[in-house]
Amino acid sequence: MKIGFIGLGNMGGPMAANLAKAGHEVTGFDIANTPPEGVATAASSIEAATDMDVVITMLPNGEILRSVADEVIPAMRSGATLLDCSTVDVDSARAVADKAQSAGLMAVDAPVSGGIGGASAGTLTFMAGGSDEAFAAVSPLFDIMGQKAVHCGPSGNGQAAKICNNMILGVTMIATCEAFALADKLGLDRQKMFDVVSTSSGYSWSMNAYCPAPGVGPQSPADNDYKPGFAADLMLKDLRLSQQAAEALDADTPMGARATELYSQFVEHEDGAGRDFSAMLPRFVSRRRS
Ligand code: NAD
Repeated sequence: MKIGFIGLGNMGGPMAANLAKAGHEVTGFDIANTPPEGVATAASSIEAATDMDVVITMLPNGEILRSVADEVIPAMRSGATLLDCSTVDVDSARAVADKAQSAGLMAVDAPVSGGIGGASAGTLTFMAGGSDEAFAAVSPLFDIMGQKAVHCGPSGNGQAAKICNNMILGVTMIATCEAFALADKLGLDRQKMFDVVSTSSGYSWSMNAYCPAPGVGPQSPADNDYKPGFAADLMLKDLRLSQQAAEALDADTPMGARATELYSQFVEHEDGAGRDFSAMLPRFVSRRRS
């Protein structure tokens, strides 16, 4: 396939490289980063979109996605597919898909889980929204960049799945960190706490796969002085997307709201910016009950 790839940052760079390695003809554009090896350079997003079978975007947020989509949609050839893998608000995803479809294109929103490691290894999970035909058109690309793709329904449903997943993640990470901090005060060894919880009803991905306590459980950012990994700033962005959606739809999400407050406090008023989201553990350890 001829693929245009726009947004070659921490995630987009390795994803584009994997598509090129698999034999696709990939042309990339980014306002700041140069394409990885094997990916040709375009001088603009329009050039990266012209005459392509699929145009993939991996951009920071919905506002940027909307402006890039306004540029590339008119440049794409009829019947091509616009595949957005960024994490954005559901409204932006649906607005971009509507515009693409009105211009005779197919559209898929397919945010990812798996982080930078998954992007490099080609083991991401994709959660996709769009028509059956559009999903089928890009499925071979999901197989290269990831290990699993779930078709979640019509346009926007991929983003819906992503923000719900990450709301659970934010809440369980906080619960895991505050429980470790309480266990410390109770005199419970962290390894014993892990041994019990990871095989009991308190287990979660946050405890079992990404344990926030250094030296306990599998290797995680806690073992690397909480360098991200998945930055607390990005967790805050995703939690805010969940709360924006909850507010618009009058959904009661008290735990999501509290997690958003705590990550906002951590990132904007404490030392959390640029640290992994599991650095909530030293935060709780250093605080008194409020
Ligand atoms: P990043 O900031 O490293 O990459 C974004 C890239 O987009 C940058 O290289 C930037 O220069 C480029 N860009 C910005 N505006 C542009 C424009 N107008 N035209 C072309 N390029 C432009 O971010 P990332 O970590 O690669 O994340 C990308 C998306 O993936 C985000 O939506 C993020 O929430 C999501 N995500 C990230 C992770 C992660 O662990 N990093 C995990 C899952 C999902």
